[in-house]
Amino acid sequence: MPDENPMIIDVVPLTGLDRVLAYIVPPSLQSKVHVGSLVRVPLLNRNQLGIVSSIDSQEEVSPEKLKFIFEALYEDPVINGELITLGRWMQRYYASSVDVVFETMIPAAVRQQTAAKYAVLLELGRIANDEEMAALEKRAPKQAQLYQFIKQQIKPIPKNKILRRLKVGAAACAALVKKGLVREFKEREERTVYNDDLASSESVVAQDIVLNEEQQAAADDFRVSLSKNEFRPHLLHGVTGSGKTEVYLDAMRSALGEGGGVIFLVPEVALTPQTVGRLRARLEHGGVKIVVWHSHLSAGERFDAWFSLARGEARVVVGARSAIFAPIPNLRLVVVDEEHEPAYKQGETPRYHGRDVAVYRAMLAGATCVLGSATPSLESLYNAQQGRYRLNRLTKRVDDRELPTVHIVDMRREKMRRDGVANISQALADKLIDRFEKREQSIMFLNRRGYSNSVLCPDCGFVAQCPHCDVTLTYHRTDERIKCHVCGYFERAPSRCGKCGSVEIKRRGFGTQKIEEAIQSIVPKAKIVRLDTDTMTKKHLFRHILDDFRKGKIDILVGTQMIAKGLDFPNVTLVGLVDADIALHVPDFRASERCFQLLVQVAGRAGRGDTAGEVIVQTFMPHNEPIQFARRGDFDGYLEVELEQRKEFHYPPYRHIVRHLFRGRNPDKVVFYAEKWADLVEEKLEHPVEIRGPAPAPLEKMKDTYRFHIWYFLGNVSKVLPSLLALRKEFPMDEEVIDVFDVDPVDML
Ligand code: ADP
Ligand code: ZN
Ligand code: ZN
Repeated sequence: MPDENPMIIDVVPLTGLDRVLAYIVPPSLQSKVHVGSLVRVPLLNRNQLGIVSSIDSQEEVSPEKLKFIFEALYEDPVINGELITLGRWMQRYYASSVDVVFETMIPAAVRQQTAAKYAVLLELGRIANDEEMAALEKRAPKQAQLYQFIKQQIKPIPKNKILRRLKVGAAACAALVKKGLVREFKEREERTVYNDDLASSESVVAQDIVLNEEQQAAADDFRVSLSKNEFRPHLLHGVTGSGKTEVYLDAMRSALGEGGGVIFLVPEVALTPQTVGRLRARLEHGGVKIVVWHSHLSAGERFDAWFSLARGEARVVVGARSAIFAPIPNLRLVVVDEEHEPAYKQGETPRYHGRDVAVYRAMLAGATCVLGSATPSLESLYNAQQGRYRLNRLTKRVDDRELPTVHIVDMRREKMRRDGVANISQALADKLIDRFEKREQSIMFLNRRGYSNSVLCPDCGFVAQCPHCDVTLTYHRTDERIKCHVCGYFERAPSRCGKCGSVEIKRRGFGTQKIEEAIQSIVPKAKIVRLDTDTMTKKHLFRHILDDFRKGKIDILVGTQMIAKGLDFPNVTLVGLVDADIALHVPDFRASERCFQLLVQVAGRAGRGDTAGEVIVQTFMPHNEPIQFARRGDFDGYLEVELEQRKEFHYPPYRHIVRHLFRGRNPDKVVFYAEKWADLVEEKLEHPVEIRGPAPAPLEKMKDTYRFHIWYFLGNVSKVLPSLLALRKEFPMDEEVIDVFDVDPVDML
């Protein structure tokens, strides 16, 4: 008997099928099915999960041919229409498949329902009288058993677990609930979602701050955008210590005041404890709930957080890139802090850029978007120059504190000093001693981890290499091993050269451990602590070290550039950059930009208190442009020369790059197919594109596979990519060759 008005919906299956399919909804489920609902549907003779992408399908299929959905999982939709549009755009723009995109957007805790099931609890309803009890025991022993058990409990117990343990069916339980003897309810217990432990333990100033003139001007401009209720992107370019966070806070308060929601993105939550702590201290009074979205949340916490955002109970989310998918209903403000950070780009499919997705989502929501940084990416600076973003600048440090003086030390002239103090110039050593005597603090930056970066034979030039990855192995003193930082391969550190047998084999270069030792020998009495990804493996160590440093218990902090991010220590008056050149030795067109950003960021860590700071930059290339411009803090000058370079070589921001990576165990095959494909593109692609390659990737061999890439330079991704993908569908690629497209790539290796 056909329904007069059948409800026909579109569903995106979440497993293995890159398509949107139409289904019909049985009348009993119609009230539960909305755009964004999670449903179970029959697909290829299986019961699969899917997301409802439309409740009014435009598919031209007659209802009789359609299958019924089985079930709608929750009362509330798991995402909203805006996110569905966003997901569809990501799928096209990043050449991904629709199911993978939605799997990325919706956390596993929500998709897999594990947390949801756990959340149903049972407790005693009313006490049964003797007659009832006797009747139960006679006619429904299972019910009696369950009732007795629950009666003895002090607190509510998870339903699933207890039914399984007592081997009691759901029907028996339901009967008890119906009689009122047992109460069944969803777990209401506050999990730790709002009380994350990542915030810095030290108390943060909670009182509000009076904005200075520049801050106020930016804040006013953001308020104008917020009041317009339309998409307006801003670039907040503020030197380190200029008080950007205060300006974000002002905008956040204003968005919240109007009942809106806020997404605040940081490159990595674990590395920004101070920011998280400040946001919480300043916003959480007055009942505003902040969800801190990070990788340590349990499935249950994730589940609760997701729905509290979807229901509008919590209206602020702070997190790394995936927080951009938070199901906030009335999104008014998106902040992307440290917008230049490469960490915003996801390294696996879908290879999306969190910042760019943030801008797109803000556009869909008609929200204000603020990208902030002391060192904005060239792309964003260019967008501002072109008038696509409003540019708000904070040129002065708060309280007119001085920007630090930057000294460049030419390491070609510095002879290696005594053993053990190698790689620390005289100038840097003198200043370290001076600061220690004055009881001021110093930070030393280095780009490598491990004790020294490689093992070199001075007799024959042999360098220990990873047999799988074609990169040098790194020496780690703690376990006397040399390790590959790409695939994890390791072997015992050799005592003689593997090639010529010389016992002169030396550990070349200088890692954080070795620098730590060198510094210790310069200032033997100083308390020195090393901070790098090796010491980060213990969960709370990072935070404790930072707290100790702030309290003055540590004199000198030695670390990789991860400690250059967003930290604010008033008593630091000396910052040393031990090997400024390293960033320039990477085969990447952004190497110069990265080097410039690193120098400016690192310098920003000095002199944040009342005493002016000094920065020592050690380099073998003192006249290099990024180093010189960074020394003078000349952004506009740097932008001009760098943009000219980019333009000449057709790099972003003038063109988009799509990197097409080919991998396989047989290098001849990989090259053959990459070349065959490139020829086809030259011949058949209707849009003219510039193609470079195929060429070996800088990391040519990795985990025993060979890697080659082709780069396409295009003006408009949305126009060209679809025809490229259409061609690819027709191309008979060898089974042993795997290829992926990376749109707007950040990792060039
Ligand atoms: P940025 O994010 O630009 O590096 P922050 O927002 O971290 O700068 O501000 C640096 C420090 O200055 C913080 O301790 C902050 O509390 C303080 N600060 C910011 N704005 C003001 C202001 N208008 N008056 C006084 N102190 C301020
Ligand atoms: Zn390796
Ligand atoms: Zn040798």
